Amino acid sequence: MHKHNDPYQDIRDAVRALCAEFPAEYFRKIDEQRGYPEEFVNALTRAGWLAALIPQEYGGSGLGLTEASVIMEEINRSGGNSGACHGQMYNMGTLLRHGSDQQKQYYLPKIASGELRLQSMAVTEPSTGTDTTKLKTTAVKKGDKYVVNGQKVWISRVQHSDLMILLARTTPLAEVKKKSEGMSIFVVDLRDAIGKGLTVRPILNMVNHETNELFFENLEIPVENLIGEEGKGFKYILDGLNAERTLIAAECIGDGYWFIDKVTKYVNERVVFGRPIGQNQGVQFPIAKAFVNIEAANLMRYKACELFDAHQPCGAEANMAKMLAADASWEAANACLQFHGGFGFAAEYDVERKFRETRLYQVAPISTNLILSYVAEHMLGLPRSF
Ligand SMILES: Cc1cc2nc3c(=O)[nH]c(=O)nc-3n(C[C@H](O)[C@H](O)[C@H](O)COP(=O)(O)OP(=O)(O)OC[C@H]3O[C@@H](n4cnc5c(N)ncnc54)[C@H](O)[C@@H]3O)c2cc1C
Repeated sequence: MHKHNDPYQDIRDAVRALCAEFPAEYFRKIDEQRGYPEEFVNALTRAGWLAALIPQEYGGSGLGLTEASVIMEEINRSGGNSGACHGQMYNMGTLLRHGSDQQKQYYLPKIASGELRLQSMAVTEPSTGTDTTKLKTTAVKKGDKYVVNGQKVWISRVQHSDLMILLARTTPLAEVKKKSEGMSIFVVDLRDAIGKGLTVRPILNMVNHETNELFFENLEIPVENLIGEEGKGFKYILDGLNAERTLIAAECIGDGYWFIDKVTKYVNERVVFGRPIGQNQGVQFPIAKAFVNIEAANLMRYKACELFDAHQPCGAEANMAKMLAADASWEAANACLQFHGGFGFAAEYDVERKFRETRLYQVAPISTNLILSYVAEHMLGLPRSF
C-alpha cells in the first residue's frame, strides 16, 4: 500500500509467496508449543533466501544488504518472525570478511546450501552485560588447541545451529594496551563441542526466542578455527554489527507495517457507539503517528543499507535505523493492541504474539540507551560517560 515502483517488488512478491504457505496459524502454533519453525526455516533455506549475502562464488546469491533487508522485512510483515533464522544471514559475514581462504572455501558453500547452519554468535556474558571488553571467557592456546573456559548468556539458536562464532579473551585485560585488544573469535563446531566441554541450558523467555546459557569447561577448539588474527576479535565482531542492526531495523519495519495493516482493518470494522471505532480521532491519531514514524525509520534503514552496500562507514546510520525502527514498531504495536481492546490479548488475533516479539528490539541486540550514548559521544562529541 505504501510504495510505487518499488525496485524490490520481485523479491517482495517471491518472499510473500513463500510466507503465504506459513500463515498466522502456523506461527501461533509454534509459539504455543514453544517450538522452532523448522519447516519455515527449511523452506527459506531451500529457496536460497538466507544465502542472500553470500557471494555467488561461494554458492550464495551475492545480493546487497538492501535486498537482504527486504527479505527480512517481508517475513515479519507477513506475520512471521525472522528472529528464528536471521543469524544464518549475517553471522557468516565474519567469516567472509576475516576468515582465511581455506575457511571460506570450506564453510561458505555449506552455509549457502544450508548443509551447515551458522545461526549463533556468542558475545554476551552474565556478569559483564553491555561492557563487552570486560568479558571473562578465556581461550588459552595449548599446542594445536585453544582451551575455553567461561560462561555466556542469551546465546540464540544454538539448539538449531551447527556452528557458532565465539568471542573470548586470549590475552588477559591487564596485559593489553587498549581494553578492546586481546580478544579473538573462533568458529565453534557445536556438534563436536556440546557434551565435550560445552553445556547448553535453554532460557525460557517472554518471546518464543530460542536462546540459551552456555557453560564452557575446558572446551578444546582446534587452532585452525581461529578467525583472522589473534587479539583482533572485538574489532571483527564490531565490523559485523552494522549488518545485524540494519537487518533488524528492517524486521521492525516489517512488524510496524503488520501492526498498522492489522489495526487499520480492525478499527474500520469494529462498531461501538453506532460507528466504526476508526472514525474517532482519538483512535486515528495514534495509528497515524505510528505510521508516520515507521515511514521515517524506513528512510534511515535504506540510508544505512545504501552506505553499507557502497562500502562506506555506516555505524551511525545502522544504529539510528535500528533505534528509530524499534521505537516505531513498538509504537505501532501499542496502538494495535490498544485498539483491539480485549481481543488484543487473545492469542488467536496474533497481536499479543507480535507485540512480545517486537518488544525485544528495545533491548537486543543493543539497547536503546547504548545507541543514544553512541550518538551523543561519537556523533555529537559529548564527554564519554564510560
Ligand atoms: C532474547 C534475547 C536474545 C539474545 N541473543 C543474543 C545472542 O545471540 N548473542 C549474544 O551475544 N547476545 C544476545 N542477547 C543479549 C543482548 O545483546 C543483551 O541482552 C543486550 O545487549 C543488553 O545487555 P544486558 O542484558 O547484559 O544488559 P545490561 O548491560 O546489564 O544493561 C541493562 C540495562 O541498563 C542499561 N544500561 C547499561 N549501561 C548503561 C549506561 N552506561 N547508560 C545508560 N543505560 C545503561 C541498558 O541500556 C539496559 O537497558 C540476547 C538477548 C535477548 C533478551
